[in-house]
Amino acid sequence: MNKKVSYSEKEWKEILTDSEYKILRRKGTEPPFSGKFLYNKKRGIYICAGCKNPLFSSETKFDSGCGWPSFREVISKGSVKLKKDKSFGINRVEVVCSKCGGHLGHVFDDDPNPTGKRFCINSISLDFKERK
Ligand code: FE
Repeated sequence: MNKKVSYSEKEWKEILTDSEYKILRRKGTEPPFSGKFLYNKKRGIYICAGCKNPLFSSETKFDSGCGWPSFREVISKGSVKLKKDKSFGINRVEVVCSKCGGHLGHVFDDDPNPTGKRFCINSISLDFKERK
C-alpha cells in the first residue's frame, strides 16, 4: 500500500508553488478554461502535483465542457478519497488525493458517459507523465 505523505503547512509552502498551495492545501479552484491540461490530448498518466500519487489515466479523460480537465474514472480505487463538501451552500463531493490529502476537485454523477461520473479536476493539482 501507498505510504501516506504528511507535511506541515510550513513544509507544504516550501514544496509547492503559491498556486499549487492555494488549490491543494486551501481547496482553491483555478479559473475555468485556464488550466494547462484542459486540452491535453497526449497519452499518459496524471499524478498528484503534491505527492506524485498516480490519479487518472488519459484514457478516461474527456471534454465535459465544464472548463476543467474531466475524467470518467480514477486510475485505481484507492487513489482518491471522496468527501462531502457543503461549502458555498452547495452539496458537492470533493475529491482529494488519498496519499497526501491534497484537494483535487469535485466529482458529479450527472454525466451521460457510461460511468455516469464526471471528475472535474484542477490542472494545477496535477502533473502529467507522458507515455509514448
Ligand atoms: Fe497527493
